[in-house]
Amino acid sequence: MIPIVNNTSNIYFFIYFFLIGLCIGSFLNVVIIRNLSNESIIFPPSKCPKCLNKLKWYHNIPIFSYILLRGKCAFCHEKISIQYPIIEFLNAAFYGFLFLKYGLSLNLIFYFIFTSLFIVIFMTDIKEKVIFTIHTYILAILGLFYNFFNNNLLDSIFGAIAGFLFLEVLTFIIYKIVKKRAFGEGDSYVLMSLGTIFGFKSLFNIIILSFALQVITLLPQFLTGLIKKKEYSLILLLSIFTISTILSHFYPNNIINIVVLFLSGILSSYKLLKMTKINNDIKQFPFAPSLILGGLIYYFTTFFFLG
Ligand SMILES: [Zn+2]
Repeated sequence: MIPIVNNTSNIYFFIYFFLIGLCIGSFLNVVIIRNLSNESIIFPPSKCPKCLNKLKWYHNIPIFSYILLRGKCAFCHEKISIQYPIIEFLNAAFYGFLFLKYGLSLNLIFYFIFTSLFIVIFMTDIKEKVIFTIHTYILAILGLFYNFFNNNLLDSIFGAIAGFLFLEVLTFIIYKIVKKRAFGEGDSYVLMSLGTIFGFKSLFNIIILSFALQVITLLPQFLTGLIKKKEYSLILLLSIFTISTILSHFYPNNIINIVVLFLSGILSSYKLLKMTKINNDIKQFPFAPSLILGGLIYYFTTFFFLG
């Protein structure tokens, strides 16, 4: 890592990378929307999805245009999705903070691309439950290069294999029991690419963190339904699972915790899947957003605050 000259130039670089992050964030919105609607990313100029008027350049300035137009199309006054400025800002903030951590280095560029791709995969899965394998392949290839330059290639390759197999084997076992795929194939590809980036040694921390996030985010939604259906044993199982996943993250090598985590995880997934098999209202759990968040939190906490 190249040492930074002084604090004043730090601020200038922070602003510089923040602005670059805003512009790329704006491009990410285009990638998300056009990939989901099967349009070309480059050719058609931006237009309002409702009135189809072509946008002027000054309607396309990240965040500022949204504020100036008060979140409405300049022509037909249709509301513009809040997704645009949020993604622009998030990407920009990540770029700024990543610079503060990595300085002007090769790793910085890798982390910029990782983060932006994380945002794209997260959003396509949240919006339409679609993961484009091409996005995960790009991540995986870059992950290999990143670890090659950081002399960690073997760990990266093992991480990729372990990540893919972990979810595929888990899905296979669950499928044998309840005849239902618990996780989509896309999730396995996401975990494979996380494996190439973080390597085998860090992979299981991320998996545990992701499971915890998954349970925490799904819990409120499920709880109301479960209370209505009087599924108290499942509520208890999920609570035990949640607590032990959080504990496992902080005390990773405690054997009692791992056993409790394993048992409560198996039992609650079994009960959950049996339940969803009966009422088909819940299909697959979108797991990739939790995986992505797990990865993001992991590299921001481990590398950013501690590293
Ligand atoms: Zn319009």
